[in-house]
Amino acid sequence: MRYTSTRAALDLSCAQAVVKGISQEGGLFVPVSFPAFSLDEIGELVSLPYYKRAAKILSKYTTDFTYEKVEEMCSKAYGADRFPGGDAAPVVALKDSYVLELFRGPTSAFKDMALQMLPHLMTNSMRAGGVTDEVVILVATSGDTGKAALEGFADVPGTRVIVFYPYGGVSKAQRLQMVTQKGENVDVCAVRGNFDDAQTGVKNIFADEEFAAVLKANGKQLSSANSINFGRLVPQIAYYFSAYADMVKLGAIKLGDKINVCVPTGNFGNILAADYAQRMGLPVNKFICASNKNNVLTDFINTGVYDRNREFYKTTSPSMDILISSNVERLIYQLCGHDNKEVSALMDSLKESGKYALPEKAANELKERYYGSWADDDMAAEEIGRVYKEEGYVMDPHTAVASAVYQKYREKTCDTTKTIVVSTASPYKFSGTVLKAISGREFDDEFEACDELERMTGVLMPEKLKELRTLPERHLSVCDKEDMEKKVYEFLHVK
Ligand SMILES: *Cc1c(COP(=O)(O)O)cnc(C)c1O
Repeated sequence: MRYTSTRAALDLSCAQAVVKGISQEGGLFVPVSFPAFSLDEIGELVSLPYYKRAAKILSKYTTDFTYEKVEEMCSKAYGADRFPGGDAAPVVALKDSYVLELFRGPTSAFKDMALQMLPHLMTNSMRAGGVTDEVVILVATSGDTGKAALEGFADVPGTRVIVFYPYGGVSKAQRLQMVTQKGENVDVCAVRGNFDDAQTGVKNIFADEEFAAVLKANGKQLSSANSINFGRLVPQIAYYFSAYADMVKLGAIKLGDKINVCVPTGNFGNILAADYAQRMGLPVNKFICASNKNNVLTDFINTGVYDRNREFYKTTSPSMDILISSNVERLIYQLCGHDNKEVSALMDSLKESGKYALPEKAANELKERYYGSWADDDMAAEEIGRVYKEEGYVMDPHTAVASAVYQKYREKTCDTTKTIVVSTASPYKFSGTVLKAISGREFDDEFEACDELERMTGVLMPEKLKELRTLPERHLSVCDKEDMEKKVYEFLHVK
């Protein structure tokens, strides 16, 4: 499988795309075509454990490596020591949806599904490409990617991780997870700004050629662990096939039946992986894109116009507080028939005026494939309460946004296609919000809320979150958004 950029005609191997992370001209790496995965092959997944399912999908893209190597990487990434309980991505049947739980990993958010895998892909790709430089992974996080990247890359030889998160823009548990991170090769810094500022800052550092030369002279090069890195997306494609196989196993669908997928969306990586799965052959009817009050994507799907010129809201689903969704670029590359000039023009327009309008054909196709809607904090809280009351199931606020949007979708369309609602975080990462939604009670202390939530619901709190109570805070840097590059110089001890 070869890779190109959304903004220029290039020819790279998967290993090169993973190590580079983002293309020099600012585009994102994409496969030149989608490998087919047949219904027979999907049928064969049904009897396999998760890591073997993942290997079947990944190996279609990571053709630099032998099948055995890919399976070995998957078994390390998704083993019981990383995902206690054995199943990395279980499907739970509710009354009118199927919840795909992606939060069983070490950081209790779905980012682990990709970031437990990425270090293996990265180090093997470096080896395959003869890269001897230290790879410095710059991360901008809205809360969950940062910790998952730290956890995945901590003390991985040949790599360093630097994470920037929005100051005051993440939950207490998310912040503690990051600032208590151990490891000789990790740094964390809060940025006075929101996630978009942090992401733009990181992208600007990537685009700074002078900085790249300084790093090179010091035996270092940059890469990304954000979902702009293709190596983040491939592992995410796998769990959609796995969920489909589980629905067949549960008897919810027959092999070949179409399903809907409803995804709580921020940077558009998770739902794009579902889109890619469909292009490979997964029978999908609609992609339901669920946003919180930062509903730029809802408007985009309904009108074909992307317009980030709007107020930014802090919500109870902070990992979706995003106005510039990076992976939309990969979608419009598809919708515009692989026309990299068109994509470049649209992205230039986004950079200059904060908006762009899709060509009519692309806009129509977008609306055909996707359904976009949103739920504000009150609606999400109501949904957490409703689902707990009616089904005894506890959802985090991000999952609740998706679940609420799915309820709206059903009412509006009367579509009864079986639907996967993607669950992206453990309720214990947002215990204050969840507890208030199901009991009406408020706790000042997040850990007290955790204890009470556990007592009330009987759902066990993940061990790694429990440990946060006692771990020392190690990373207390804060910087202005203009000073992110300066911080990187400082962390790396280069001049
Ligand atoms: C990152 C994240 C999202 C958004 O996922 P994208 O791939 O950025 O669309 C949703 N929920 C949680 C809990 C997350 O951590």
